[in-house]
Amino acid sequence: MTTTGEPARRLWAPVRDWALWERPRRWVVYTLTTEALTLALAVAALVFVPVSGKQMLMFGVLAVLGVLQAEMSRKIERARRSLNVTPHVSMTSVWMLPAILLLPPQLIAALAVTFYLHLGIRSWSGIQHAAAHRTVTNGTTVTLTCFVASWVTHAFFGANPLASGTEVAAAAVCVAGAMYFLVNTAITGGGLYLAAPEKASVKRIVGTWDDNLLDLATLCIGGMMVIALINQPLMALITFVPMFVLQRSVLAKQLEDLASKDQKTGLLNATAWHHQGNQEVSRAGRTGGEFSVLMIDLDFFKKINDTHGHLAGDDMLIALADMLKRETRSHDLVGRFGGEEFVVLLGGSSELEAVIAAERLRHLITELVVSTQNNEGKPVVITERTASIGVAAYPEAGQTLDEVLAAADAAVYVAKESGRNKVVGATNRPVVVTTAG
Ligand code: GH3
Ligand code: MG
Ligand code: MG
Repeated sequence: MTTTGEPARRLWAPVRDWALWERPRRWVVYTLTTEALTLALAVAALVFVPVSGKQMLMFGVLAVLGVLQAEMSRKIERARRSLNVTPHVSMTSVWMLPAILLLPPQLIAALAVTFYLHLGIRSWSGIQHAAAHRTVTNGTTVTLTCFVASWVTHAFFGANPLASGTEVAAAAVCVAGAMYFLVNTAITGGGLYLAAPEKASVKRIVGTWDDNLLDLATLCIGGMMVIALINQPLMALITFVPMFVLQRSVLAKQLEDLASKDQKTGLLNATAWHHQGNQEVSRAGRTGGEFSVLMIDLDFFKKINDTHGHLAGDDMLIALADMLKRETRSHDLVGRFGGEEFVVLLGGSSELEAVIAAERLRHLITELVVSTQNNEGKPVVITERTASIGVAAYPEAGQTLDEVLAAADAAVYVAKESGRNKVVGATNRPVVVTTAG
């Protein structure tokens, strides 16, 4: 016998499987609230705001140009999206900036829906990091951003800012662009913070300098697009070339990062570390200088994986990497050679200086507090971890980078054998420098 609940359950089943529900509850509430607010504002505009034929025409022009441009760079966009899990620079702002100044809210929303539907179907479908709810969230964020930017710009410059003389038009474009940038950062940053408050950092929430520069570059093209559209719409087509090149340069940078960075921690990977380390060897050889290498290996790291799961282990590795980056100088080379082995090259440091630095790092590792989750999603806090550190210096420990590394590796082994939570210098072997907590 079928129950009346059966069809409802069948309908609910695919919804229940959405990747959205796996995200933290507070993030889901924030996202759904933003989406509901955006939808309500769009519907209100549809009912209360009149649309002129000229605005409909402009909507059509922007939609056709935007989709055409997205089709042209579809392969690049697919490659970029497959490489990156973090929020990434989007070309849509080029078309949304004119929309802020020229279209009423309901057409702004319709334009965002057109672009994100097109991107979702043509460019992002089947890509692991591009779940459907992400596309909806991105589209909503852009729509709400444009609503706010549009209201602020029209509040300052009146209903038709582009008709009031060239200086005023230019100022309106700048204000609209600045508002887009600020509001977009605020909405996206709020979501990123709520997704993982424990990982919050300015870089994570506001993005890197490079990300922001690229956002600015797309907004600049968007600004030129506005001026082209109101004066000579055909000129809009020439912006396709800089957009294509910009998108390709973003892809090139992503590939460069992928080739040189450890994806889990953002530190240098083994290849890049060796490459830069060998440059240090050449420099030291030429100038008669010195440098030291620290090899850092967490003690009983496997226990974290066994007790709390692999993801908790990963968070520990990320926390250690962040600390090492924070606590070393910008020209020191911090790398991860895979697993739980980290290497730091301290330029210009003797073994003794490096041992003192390593001792400080060893102490900081014991003080790390890592808030994470276990396999069942329950919160756990990892504390009081220790590491064994081997130190070796050029040229005492070897004439090549590999020789110095091998000496540091041997010193780690001595530290492990003699009780762990220790710093051991290659030339001091087997003398243990200190074990003080
Ligand atoms: P020791 O004090 O002797 O160094 O003990 P250990 O447990 O730290 O060392 P061992 O080499 O036996 O284990 C290292 C573990 O690190 C084994 C492996 O499962 C784990 N591991 C390697 N890479 C990763 C990673 O990227 N993430 C996580 N979570 N674990 C990793
Ligand atoms: Mg190891
Ligand atoms: Mg270990």
